[in-house]
Amino acid sequence: MKIRRYKKVNKHLGFFTNNFGFRQPYQLLADGTFCFAALNNKINVANDIPKYLQSEIKLITTQCAIIEMEKLGPKLNGALIILKKYVLHKCGHEGKPIPGSQCLLNMVAMENPKHYIVCTQDRDLQDKLRLLPGVPLLYLHVKTPVLEQPSEASIKRAEEKMTGLVQSEVEKLKQLKEEEGISTEETKVKRRKKKGPNPLSCKKKQKKPQENPIQKKESKPEIEKKKRKKIRIPQHVKEEILKRTFMKINKLND
Ligand SMILES: [Zn+2]
Repeated sequence: MKIRRYKKVNKHLGFFTNNFGFRQPYQLLADGTFCFAALNNKINVANDIPKYLQSEIKLITTQCAIIEMEKLGPKLNGALIILKKYVLHKCGHEGKPIPGSQCLLNMVAMENPKHYIVCTQDRDLQDKLRLLPGVPLLYLHVKTPVLEQPSEASIKRAEEKMTGLVQSEVEKLKQLKEEEGISTEETKVKRRKKKGPNPLSCKKKQKKPQENPIQKKESKPEIEKKKRKKIRIPQHVKEEILKRTFMKINKLND
């Protein structure tokens, strides 16, 4: 079998194990049509299906399915012999058998609590099973077994479960918060009383002194420079003063 098919099977089985609680050994609920097709295509269900699913399985049927096969006559004797080897699960119709397809539908109603994988070649039954969430469908496509991809009903139900889980978790969190809410609010109030107004003001104060030294450092030299500039007398002025004083001295001497 191709690897791609194994991957598909694993993916589909994984969907049902994760979302609907399916576990090994998987319970394969089969009817006469499945056994008949298997016999015609020389498929040994007990050997080949576990290989296909790469899992342990239990083959199961109901009294109603067997009685229906018995009624259909000797042509189906071979398939009937196979079906009778399967484990018989009580269906609730003992003494008052109903058509096999209807019995199997009943077995997986109410979200398939026993986690059956239904094995049937009955097209009408397949269509009805696809409408039920959490029911994997297995059939034979000529000589190859096919675990059908999860139906839309199953996918939708799984999504609802997920959102339900998320919502319930959110609600749980809310409850926990409400339970601890009083204490957390108290601590918040206490913290606010102690630290509430201070951190904001402290941060601002911390920022200001950080900024101020830089400003002061920058401003101080400016003032010093300005002062120095005032004190400093340019050289040409000094020379001019000197010249003028010399001139005055000369005039006085004259
Ligand atoms: Zn039944």
